[in-house]
Amino acid sequence: MNIPYIFDVQRGSTVDGRGLRTTVFFKGCNLDCFWCHNPEGKKPFPELAFFARACLGCGSCRGACPGEEGAPCRACGECAALCPSAALRVYGKQYKIEELLDIILADEPFYEATGGGVTLSGGECMLYPDFVSALLQKCKEKGIHTAIDTAGSVPFSHFEQVLPYTDMFLYDIKCLSPSLHKQGTGFDNSLILENLERLRQTGKEILVRVPLIPSFNEKEKDEIEAFCRARGLSYELLPYHTLGEGKKAALSAFRERK
Ligand code: SF4
Ligand code: SF4
Repeated sequence: MNIPYIFDVQRGSTVDGRGLRTTVFFKGCNLDCFWCHNPEGKKPFPELAFFARACLGCGSCRGACPGEEGAPCRACGECAALCPSAALRVYGKQYKIEELLDIILADEPFYEATGGGVTLSGGECMLYPDFVSALLQKCKEKGIHTAIDTAGSVPFSHFEQVLPYTDMFLYDIKCLSPSLHKQGTGFDNSLILENLERLRQTGKEILVRVPLIPSFNEKEKDEIEAFCRARGLSYELLPYHTLGEGKKAALSAFRERK
């Protein structure tokens, strides 16, 4: 089984499905959205980030790197472990399914009290259907509500694999126009829309999520809403924010620290 890297596990999330949830963010994405809110989730391997504004200038990290001068960073985390202010951070860690399950189960009482559960997100968690289905199967055996947050640009066989263990899909639609989609994400959306229709026909609960991006898809908002209503799909609009910009800068800044 391909063991994915995870860049974050957020407990107590209220924005990734109903109730209080634990959201697991997988690294690796096959779209390239120019507004990406989670740039640390794009690449499928660990990465070091340097947040300059958090740096105290203490110098603890200097000389910590075991790599040769000029060698590429292996994101081993040795420098980050010495940083007192989390200015250096490694994104990407591999977990065993049992380790993730333990983290997820720690909040079981909150799921019961709020109707919450676990959400797998990213990046694109659906690039890892073996791992996702194995993890969600364990969650279902424990009675945990399960959700997948996906952009849907994967073979439908990936959906078929996870369907038995998934209660709900949070399905991103960025726009309906294929040319606009290609312009904004680098890829055509025909597979995404085809998968959405096939998923709808399974009768699984789907919440379409639409990130509203200024100067990109705002003009398509009414059209997307009409598209969802015509198919009986629930949808929500996600506000634009710029939190990804700081992380993007931090991911490209670490080399200067080495
Ligand atoms: S720069 Fe830091 S994370 Fe990268 S290889 Fe060196 S010690 Fe490891
Ligand atoms: S990045 Fe280096 S110099 Fe800055 S706070 Fe961390 S350890 Fe100190």
